[in-house]
Amino acid sequence: MLLFKSVVEINRFLSQFRQNGRRVGFVPTMGALHKGHLDLLQSSQQNNDLTVCSIFVNPTQFNESSDLEKYPRREAADIKLLLGIGCDVLFMPPVSEMYPETYAGPPAFDFKGLEEPMEGTHRPGHFEGVAQVIHRFIEILEPGSIVMGQKDLQQYLIVRSMIRQLDVEVDLILHPIVREESGLAMSSRNRRLSPEEKAEAAGIHQILQAAKSWKASGFHPNEIQDRGMKALLKNPHFKPEYFDVVDTETLKPVERFKKDQEVAVCTAVWVGPVRLIDNILI
Ligand code: AMP
Repeated sequence: MLLFKSVVEINRFLSQFRQNGRRVGFVPTMGALHKGHLDLLQSSQQNNDLTVCSIFVNPTQFNESSDLEKYPRREAADIKLLLGIGCDVLFMPPVSEMYPETYAGPPAFDFKGLEEPMEGTHRPGHFEGVAQVIHRFIEILEPGSIVMGQKDLQQYLIVRSMIRQLDVEVDLILHPIVREESGLAMSSRNRRLSPEEKAEAAGIHQILQAAKSWKASGFHPNEIQDRGMKALLKNPHFKPEYFDVVDTETLKPVERFKKDQEVAVCTAVWVGPVRLIDNILI
């Protein structure tokens, strides 16, 4: 595995590699890797001639400095995991490489309201930071494809909208949510849960699954929202922020179910000191 920390060097290496039409895949991460990340990487490896994994805890997408400070960092363990799956290239730039003083910032984007609900309401500025970092990575790496996880569905939709606005040739692939056996969505943040909290956190997925069955039983979107919120509030370990039934194209709330409309239930829940997000297509 090749390790790059310099923008100029990885750009030069990939420019050479891309000659002869070879395809570069890219999986952006913030490290503290788990099986979810590795599945995304393996999917990219299968579909590209070379895959770049980045590990960069992007300061511009954290709206709270304490969250940024507490974000788990496990460089040595991450490198071992990447070697284990035969990752080709690891890009681990310092902040000064990603955002040098000469960096002008990304162009202005219009996300048409995708940035407003859910994470947008609870983490102001978060998606501007996400768009900025992915735009910068596209500029540096010029990937043919990027794989992102459904766990961060709103993030995926923002990046998809950005790519459409940039008019660049990047295939954006959505990878399904990878879960623990308990149903808990894998997350780097799970490491900060106590064993008891982790066991309780599996209840979030159960409530999302219940939402799917409520839809099948004929409940309306607002009833599903209320039932979900109530079920979350019943657990003394949970502090839910939202439990929203949304259209996956627009992220607007669904008022009534229509045929041929893809709908997701998305939730964010504090479990002890950790804020977890999860979703399900219903
Ligand atoms: P992160 O390191 O949390 O920024 O995540 C990097 C990428 O991995 C993002 O595209 C996430 O959506 C994706 N990801 C994280 N956890 C999971 C999971 N449990 N299942 C699928 N994708 C995930």
